[in-house]
Amino acid sequence: MASNLFDLSGSTALVTGSSRGLGRAIAEGFGAAGARLIINGRAGSGLSNAAGELRAAGHDVHEAAFDVTNEAAVKAAFRRFDEEGLEVDILVNNAGIQHRQPMAELALADWQRVIDTNLTSAFLVGREAALRMIPRGRGKIINIGSLTSELARATVIPYTVAKGGIKMLTRGMAAEWAKSGIQANAIGPGYMLTDMNEALVNDPKFDAWVKGRTPAGRWGKPEELIGAAVFLASRASDYVNGQIIYVDGGMLSVL
Ligand code: NDP
Repeated sequence: MASNLFDLSGSTALVTGSSRGLGRAIAEGFGAAGARLIINGRAGSGLSNAAGELRAAGHDVHEAAFDVTNEAAVKAAFRRFDEEGLEVDILVNNAGIQHRQPMAELALADWQRVIDTNLTSAFLVGREAALRMIPRGRGKIINIGSLTSELARATVIPYTVAKGGIKMLTRGMAAEWAKSGIQANAIGPGYMLTDMNEALVNDPKFDAWVKGRTPAGRWGKPEELIGAAVFLASRASDYVNGQIIYVDGGMLSVL
């Protein structure tokens, strides 16, 4: 049956940055499709609260608090998964941050922080996951890009560079790992209603711009990423490699 193509029962999914926002919604969607969840964020109350709520909703949830930019912490987390017998079948590289400032005024430390969190993290976590997926001969990696994987926007240049990099990292992963039965793809969300965009949603001018510029005429809801994420995590995408699927209400298709 076609619906079985999207069944994630028996799989374990690690979603980075799933204490809230898009990562949390994707994790919930995977749980509903039958996956065991490993949720992640930096150590703090947000992660435990999210874990508690997901468990209350009936999901099988492991908490893995680590900083995705810290190589030693990423390696240690995967060693703990090994010890606990947790095999990451599905990885979503979702953790990310934004920093809005004109480039001419930008400090190197802020440039680096954004590149580390939005791009280098996907290499670090992706490498640990792939080292274990390659011998198993299967695995699904989903990187979270952005409309800025294609288009630049003033005041968010390091983010734009990182997300452009995510598109090519995804293709690089496909180039090296597809032959090992791993599918690496990406999702490029449009403007979505999360904490990251709170200041923009509350700015009437920006809110009107998003609604006018998006053919769908509205912001996206985090749960609207679930369909693309489950597709890319499931058997349904076993011959899909190196693609980026934009879930953006049509924004990237129009002027
Ligand atoms: P949020 O700010 O709502 O959530 C970000 C998540 O990332 C949190 O769970 C946060 O957890 C985690 N995180 C941040 N830094 C680290 C770190 N160093 N290590 C581990 N976890 C970390 O963001 P969104 O949900 O809006 O964004 C999620 C992803 O989607 C990002 O990659 C973003 O660039 C991308 N995206 C978002 C769009 C949008 O419109 N919202 C549009 C296009 C792409 P904690 O703070 O607890 O550590």
